[in-house]
Amino acid sequence: MKFQAIKGVRDILPPDSALWNRVEQAAREVFETYGYGEIRLPIFEPTELFARSIGAETDVVSKEMYTFEDRSRSAAELTQRCEEITQNPPSIRDASLFISYQRSVLALGENLKRAMASGQVPRTAENEQRLRKVLELLEAAESLGLKNLGEDVDAATFGGYLKGIAENFKSFQFGDSLTLRPEATASVVRAYIEHGLYNRPGNTKLYYMGPMFRRERPQKGRYRQFYQIGAELLGSSDHAALDAEVLEMLLAFFARVGLQGAILSINSIGDKNCRPAYVELLRAELTKVRDKLGPDSQRRIETNPLRVLDSKVPDEQAIIATLPRIADHLCAECKEHYAKLQDELALRDIAYQENWRLVRGLDYYMRTTFEITAPGLGSQDAVCGGGRYDGLVELLGGPATTKCIGFAIGTDRLVLSLQAQAASSLNASSGAVSSAIAGMSSVAASASAPAGVEVFLAWLGGATYHAAVVLARRLRGQGISVELPPVAMKFGKALNLASRLGARHAVIIGEDELASGQFTVKRLADGEQKKLSGSDLLAYLLSARKP
Ligand code: AMP
Repeated sequence: MKFQAIKGVRDILPPDSALWNRVEQAAREVFETYGYGEIRLPIFEPTELFARSIGAETDVVSKEMYTFEDRSRSAAELTQRCEEITQNPPSIRDASLFISYQRSVLALGENLKRAMASGQVPRTAENEQRLRKVLELLEAAESLGLKNLGEDVDAATFGGYLKGIAENFKSFQFGDSLTLRPEATASVVRAYIEHGLYNRPGNTKLYYMGPMFRRERPQKGRYRQFYQIGAELLGSSDHAALDAEVLEMLLAFFARVGLQGAILSINSIGDKNCRPAYVELLRAELTKVRDKLGPDSQRRIETNPLRVLDSKVPDEQAIIATLPRIADHLCAECKEHYAKLQDELALRDIAYQENWRLVRGLDYYMRTTFEITAPGLGSQDAVCGGGRYDGLVELLGGPATTKCIGFAIGTDRLVLSLQAQAASSLNASSGAVSSAIAGMSSVAASASAPAGVEVFLAWLGGATYHAAVVLARRLRGQGISVELPPVAMKFGKALNLASRLGARHAVIIGEDELASGQFTVKRLADGEQKKLSGSDLLAYLLSARKP
């Protein structure tokens, strides 16, 4: 017998695995300079976590999850016992057989009750109901059996009772329903709430990497076990500067791995104030053209009209182009957030396209959505998707005020794109993988970078913000981890927050600093303060790492 990896999963062999390692290492280096720390998450979680967060009616949850019942050893024995007892039900004419059947069912009922109490079998309302039903049916069967008339009518009813007992045993849930994670955002939010991470000072910034599982139809760039590198920022602010910084970090990562030709698309999908009215408008417009749409889109008119905008069906494209666009229906706050995001992106020299059809179908997503596509991938060309999901923490039982933004990069596709790029370049003589690795830049200093915030970069208002954004990127580019607040801060408040975050240095940019080109840097351990130019500052910060 010859074994093979199952459909949709694959081995990653050398030299490809070397490229994978470099990509993952680059993510660690870049994300850590933006103050993100790694979270290692479980591969499986309660099914309910994904059903709630991703949404029961999505394809991922309804069709693509790898779900199993996690039975304990004693639960497995109980399952077997249920089967044995119900396999050969006694006839109404055989009283002694019925009595031994009755004894077995009662004993099994007791065992199940005990197993539920001790947690070996899930103690759910449904399971308790099933047990009650079994006892009811058993009693009913007993009273018929005692009459022992053996008439056909009674025999059929009696048989029906026993069948009911067997069905209740069969539908009994013997273990917890678990699912191999189809994505990791739900787990990050679960962990954020479970460990009370919202009690820590500042924003919570986490990144993760690892396999995800979805039962999709396999093709190039689409696997059933695939890998994601993702990051999530959770905190109290939804300032558009945070959205822009997340995008800057993503693009810094793609630049570090040498990916060329990536295209960033952005959109705003409004929030719970303005989106419902837009969705209704969309539904009304779609209803008018219902007959011209395919079956999937027709169904989505009722279930989720926004998802029609995702459609790739060629015949629907011309119709979709005429639909109302959400940008024209945003409320004042969402409009302002979106305009601010675009200003922040311009400030950072980030090129992007707007794509009004970039949507997320779930209620807790709001405002910013984005996607990055890369060349060399054919139809599956999205290497990253993300957006704001301010309502999810509340939905999963955490503080309602938590704001979140995050993304997931498809590592398989990123690696494929890097390989395609290397293979098509002229210097590919040494092979696509080594050429792709050679195309990556690396930061020598980062190997000795300490964990945590190295620089809290405060800016005091006005034009100093631009200088702060530029300096932050420059320092991060050298592997230094920088925290850049999205709002201007007074000197004292900035120092206070810097020390609460455990930063090693505070760098202050005020109007004076801007005019003189000298930055004030304060070592927080002993308060030593200096004024340094940009390159002296960099040298100073790097030398401060030496013990
Ligand atoms: P999603 O979690 O669906 O927003 O996907 C985020 C990114 O993960 C996508 O842009 C893809 O790059 C990647 N991805 C999603 N599903 C798969 C899959 N089945 N195989 C490979 N990559 C995937």
